Amino acid sequence: MTADISFLQPYPPEPPPEDFQPRLLLVDDEPRMLFSLVELLKGRGYQLSTAAGGREAIARMKQAPFDLLLLDLQMPDISGHDVMDFVNESYQGVSVIITSGATEIDEAIGAIRRGAYGYLRKPYSREELLRTIDNALMQRKLEAENQRIALRLERSERLYRYLVDGSPDIIYTLDPQGNISFINDRVQPLLGFRRSELIGQHYSVLVHEADMERANYVFNEGRSEFARSRNVELRLNSKHDDYEPRTFSIELVLINLVGDEVSSKASAAGPKSMGIYGVARDITDRKRADAKIAYQAYHDILTELPNRALFNDRLGLALLQARRNDSMLAVMFIDLDRFKMVNDTFGHGGGDGLLQQVSSRLKACLRKCDTLSRIGGDEFTAILPELNSREDAALIADKFVESLRPPFVIAGQNVHLTASIGVALFPDDGLKIDDLLRNADVAMYHMKAKGRNGHAFFDQELLDAPLHKIALQHDLHLALERNELEMFYQPQIDISTKKIIGAEALMRWNHPERGFLGAGEFLPFAEESGLIIPISDWMLGAICRDYLDWRGLCGDSLRLSLNISPQYLDRGDFFDKLQTALARYKIPPSRFEVEVTENICIRNPQTAIDQLDKLCQLGVSVAIDDFGTGYSSLSYLHRFPIHTIKIDRAFVMEIRDEGMQFPVVLAIVAIAQGLGLNLVAEGVETEIQERYLAEAGCKIMQGYLYHQPMSQSHLLDLMREQAIVPVH
Ligand code: C2E
Ligand code: CA
Ligand code: CA
Repeated sequence: MTADISFLQPYPPEPPPEDFQPRLLLVDDEPRMLFSLVELLKGRGYQLSTAAGGREAIARMKQAPFDLLLLDLQMPDISGHDVMDFVNESYQGVSVIITSGATEIDEAIGAIRRGAYGYLRKPYSREELLRTIDNALMQRKLEAENQRIALRLERSERLYRYLVDGSPDIIYTLDPQGNISFINDRVQPLLGFRRSELIGQHYSVLVHEADMERANYVFNEGRSEFARSRNVELRLNSKHDDYEPRTFSIELVLINLVGDEVSSKASAAGPKSMGIYGVARDITDRKRADAKIAYQAYHDILTELPNRALFNDRLGLALLQARRNDSMLAVMFIDLDRFKMVNDTFGHGGGDGLLQQVSSRLKACLRKCDTLSRIGGDEFTAILPELNSREDAALIADKFVESLRPPFVIAGQNVHLTASIGVALFPDDGLKIDDLLRNADVAMYHMKAKGRNGHAFFDQELLDAPLHKIALQHDLHLALERNELEMFYQPQIDISTKKIIGAEALMRWNHPERGFLGAGEFLPFAEESGLIIPISDWMLGAICRDYLDWRGLCGDSLRLSLNISPQYLDRGDFFDKLQTALARYKIPPSRFEVEVTENICIRNPQTAIDQLDKLCQLGVSVAIDDFGTGYSSLSYLHRFPIHTIKIDRAFVMEIRDEGMQFPVVLAIVAIAQGLGLNLVAEGVETEIQERYLAEAGCKIMQGYLYHQPMSQSHLLDLMREQAIVPVH
């Protein structure tokens, strides 16, 4: 395709400079006449040439350019008319003034019709001659100038059009009402609309209805004086075969659509005269590529099933929901038996084909809400939410096994395949993604060991747990009886006075062989086995007794924080037990603070609210422990009756370098301040952390920087040493 790009060529020559001398050709067959003309015009700034006849005049013109011709009509060789014909045909641009006698008036008129500029009737006066020549030259100059300007305009117009229409983007203007006042040709190939059918139409004919609200919003915003330019992504309607809308990245620029003379008035009158100029770039392909990349990041390319990442994601969501609805969920681990043999026999191509067939058979067994994914070579996993019973899970596992029974066909050959399936149930076999997957995996191996081709449920006994764990679990049963548990206390410091204002009770197990074990090393077993209930009962008594010793030293000035297991809180009698204990030991409830984790608010929000409400009424305060790590949502902070939030150690740990900002910490501080809550930072280990937290507005701190958790007797020593001054 060859485009006309003549407008890219240089412009016509600039007008002649001021000292330019017009070139005149004087034509007359009468020598006297010629002589007197030369005499008359000499010295007036013209370059003069003469010709004694028509032929000679033509010959001279062929040699050199002239600006003006003073032409006698009546000549013996060829007439002035003939000379004019020559001029019109091949010598345009010269002005012609006819001189003739009175008798030749008709011919003179003919010459004027032929394009002569003027007519001088002989005899003419000197002034008349000079004036006519001047006028002719002036007009010629103006014409040349006009022509140049016109050409320039036309070229620049064509240049802009070329640029605008050649643009890969749609370029348009909208009037203040949103009607399309200009749109370039690009709209046709991109969207299938002709320009002519869009001009004058409202932009809404182009915007896909799903994006209309956004478009209107942006358009209205765009018209305001304050937002001069903005970008938006919109889908535009397409008239192409598929009618699929295409996605455009659209830039809107506010422009003054009225002419310059009125613009000052217009801006005084407000933004009414403002229109919008914009460029819309088709980013459909980029979008599709992005979507494809995103899809591939979360899918197994061979089977198009979700991959491990997406599986984990979905399992996380499914667990949240199951927790909320108090429903049962199964995680299955499906491993094909002896798949390696198929691969070895039929090659990878055959193996791939088989995996695709397997995945579609397995998928056909599932409900819409289930997820099947491929997480490795011949390993599939499934999430089955909303089950009523174990039997539901067994039924689906059987369906999987059954679906694989008919032979597969690879390279024209029948291939028989079986699978071993492990099943783990939420909540019975685990609460977390990793636990459930691991336990389903354990069950699957158990099935393989049992002889393949079937399913097995997870059972705690299957856990090939490290022996010491099992031993610990066993010992824990005896710990209470043997009185091996002990409460330790970690002081909490008011950073402005550096004084201890309270302490958190943390449980230790003084194991006969292993020494002191941290709470994290044994409480999870206690939770699992239900031992947490008697252990917590014991703890309530222990802390109350310890508190009485504190009182003996420093009155009721210290506050004691205790951790409460969700299981314990869930049980309706926790409140009664605490109330009874406080009453029995005559401890003012305001001296106790119960720490609960964020997650209890998710598990069973209403029960939790009820329990916490009762605590508040009693006068016990409530702290949210490990704040920021759970499924926290700000909304529950309003709904839950809490007094304190504890910034989790994980966030404090991040604070390593001075001079850096830690937005999560700042956000938590802001939340606490905003809601008028106390704030405690835990796990403070360095002065850098202390300084940063103090500057951020946190006043109470707890951590190794001040004190490790210590035995009751150590704490009492410390209190004596520090002569703790009672506070409020
Ligand atoms: P938590 O409530 O977040 O307790 C803070 C944990 O951080 C304690 O671990 C404490 O020893 C430790 N810690 C405190 N300051 C620092 C520090 O500066 N650096 C480091 N690295 N660690 C610090 P512990 O005692 O092992 O307790 C672990 C978890 O067990 C506690 O987390 C709490 O949720 C639970 N827990 C402890 N005691 C009890 C209890 O009596 N009953 C119940 N139900 N749970 C308890
Ligand atoms: Ca705690
Ligand atoms: Ca904590």
